[in-house]
Amino acid sequence: MEEEVNLLGLSQDTGTIPEKELEASPGYPSKEDLERGPIVVIECTEEIPCNPCETVCKRGAIVVGEPITNLPRIDPEKCNGCGLCIPICPGLAIFMIDGTYSKDEAAISFPHEYLPLPKEGDEVEAVNRKSETICRGKIVKVRNPKSYNCTPVVTVAVPKKYVHEVRGIRRFAKGVIT
Ligand code: SF4
Ligand code: SF4
Repeated sequence: MEEEVNLLGLSQDTGTIPEKELEASPGYPSKEDLERGPIVVIECTEEIPCNPCETVCKRGAIVVGEPITNLPRIDPEKCNGCGLCIPICPGLAIFMIDGTYSKDEAAISFPHEYLPLPKEGDEVEAVNRKSETICRGKIVKVRNPKSYNCTPVVTVAVPKKYVHEVRGIRRFAKGVIT
């Protein structure tokens, strides 16, 4: 059954953007590109005046152009997976997928503005866009340099079959998973 959406294009049930709309947007790489190596996935489907993702990318892999309300478009050939565009996005709409992380796992990097931060090696619950637990995952990287301006980027390894679903982890509270 088709997911019902409201006037903002959000799912009426969950307030999230329907997966089909995300995958059809210009910021979403093809399945083939996602399997090649680290590449950004831009889940930005609102025509708002915004372009820091374009200006931060020195490789020209993200194009908004004119007018500034264009949806960002990814050029998979130019993205080298540096990840600089993830913390710059005010909408927390940029993720990184590395489908080549290991034989059975993909690595997903996402902005995570919650404390306490997880640590490398932590076993966590990986969640989807609706914050529902999808599977177990392992934290493989936590980046929080000053240049990220208080938007840490966390990377979790999960089974490859969940690569289109996992977009974060369940928040920690006082050192335990809630
Ligand atoms: S990950 Fe790096 S190269 Fe790729 S789009 Fe973002 S800033 Fe550009
Ligand atoms: S910075 Fe984020 S919200 Fe702004 S256009 Fe880029 S992806 Fe969309």
